[in-house]
Amino acid sequence: MAFPTQSKYVIIGAGIHGLSTAWALSERLKKTGRGGGEDILVIDKTGIAAGASGIACGVVRNNYFQPAMRELMAHSVSVWDSDPEAFSYHPVGYMQISHEGMREDITSIFEQQKAIGYESEFIEGEGDSFTYMKNLFSDWRATGITSVLHEKKGGYANNTAAIYGLAKKAEGQGVRILSGVAVTGFTKDSASGAVTAVETDRGTVECEQVVVAVGPWAKTVWDMLDLPREVTIKAGDGSTHDGIPTWRYWCLEEGVLGIDPDLQKTNDGKMPPVIHVDTDDPLYSDVDGSLVRDEPWGIYYKPDTHFGGIQGGAMPYEVKTPADNVAIDPYGPESPEFIVGDDFAHMWCSALAFCQERFSGQIGKYKNEPSGGLGCFTPDSFPVFDRFCENVYFIADSNHGYKMIGVGHLVAEELLGNGQALLEPFRFSRYAEGRLHPTSNSPFPWS
Ligand SMILES: Cc1cc2nc3c(=O)[nH]c(=O)nc-3n(C[C@H](O)[C@H](O)[C@H](O)COP(=O)(O)OP(=O)(O)OC[C@H]3O[C@@H](n4cnc5c(N)ncnc54)[C@H](O)[C@@H]3O)c2cc1C
Repeated sequence: MAFPTQSKYVIIGAGIHGLSTAWALSERLKKTGRGGGEDILVIDKTGIAAGASGIACGVVRNNYFQPAMRELMAHSVSVWDSDPEAFSYHPVGYMQISHEGMREDITSIFEQQKAIGYESEFIEGEGDSFTYMKNLFSDWRATGITSVLHEKKGGYANNTAAIYGLAKKAEGQGVRILSGVAVTGFTKDSASGAVTAVETDRGTVECEQVVVAVGPWAKTVWDMLDLPREVTIKAGDGSTHDGIPTWRYWCLEEGVLGIDPDLQKTNDGKMPPVIHVDTDDPLYSDVDGSLVRDEPWGIYYKPDTHFGGIQGGAMPYEVKTPADNVAIDPYGPESPEFIVGDDFAHMWCSALAFCQERFSGQIGKYKNEPSGGLGCFTPDSFPVFDRFCENVYFIADSNHGYKMIGVGHLVAEELLGNGQALLEPFRFSRYAEGRLHPTSNSPFPWS
């Protein structure tokens, strides 16, 4: 097929956001008689699921301290629920198991989940929390826990399988997905500043609207569009802070313990919810008893046949290199720099053993293969969904995004001129206007 020189909509990136937008937009165009999938071209420099979506843990949860995030996630969970088979989605639920310093935050999450009708159960107090967990897993033994939030919805999806499921839905509507085509720049109208064409290493594609959904490469494409490299943030007390870099990177640390996933079944033989534990009790090595961590720490894990074991991760770390000098490519497991090492394996396996006895003495089965990867974060670590240069819609999820399969549906509506209240709290202007999201006491930058 010839390289296209024109497409009404060009979507850059074939990950969760690019493909869910393509799918949702094609359906809406058709339904409203305004066109169809043939009007949409998805371009990816590598291929479907080549970015963060293809290596994500795949956890889908609602547990967010920020009301706007929670409402957005509830919407996305309804999209996951709409076709679990196509999305390789396992609605096993999700548990946030926390120490006292987080109880107040989690209580408010539970209250607000009730208010939006998102089904969950909340257990408070050390004794009751322990009993609840013990009833689920007979070998539960984590300490320093005073609350358990059990979300009955959510769970996880198999990372690449879900993205291929989305690609199939989009292609089924006539969307064309071009792999191996890298966007290198944009042609802009000199008067309006709107993008008139997307420049690639294979040729130029004229277009009316552009959607940028490039995950960890957000800064690269942002710079191509000459968008602001720094922001001014108005804080809650009215003071302003200038010169804050628009982008920074964190490295996500994940791995797999290569044991039979069935070994993590619950006491009644069912596949368990995704487990997330945050505690402030010291963590000691499961190998030699040495102190591993004496500040609050957290891990998450789930049995996952796709990964062939117990898969999960721990707190990410901030990349201190100035954003301009961070090497995003080669990405994910191919990166020589941003993959986990022995320290992660030691910490995470010790933490698993801290939580459940069945994991003790198993570190030898840790899969010693490259895993983890970079995420590109905004100044407040929350997404930016907004329009720039008149006709460029930027989806920058600040690494929250595998679970956000519904964002593409909302973006599709906005592309067609229908503003979406769920996306309103995520505009870029929030920094200058001081409309910031509340922050929590979790050790993770995304809670
Ligand atoms: C290790 C890890 C684990 C994670 N676990 C979870 C999780 O459990 N739950 C969760 O909700 N989120 C998770 N995330 C975050 C989540 O994966 C990302 O937020 C989300 O996948 C981003 O999706 P995206 O569509 O924006 O980008 P991506 O999936 O990264 O897709 C972007 C695509 O753009 C293409 N591209 C980039 N530049 C160009 C260019 N110039 N021209 C053409 N194409 C280009 C890339 O090739 C890529 O395929 C995790 C992230 C990591 C790194």
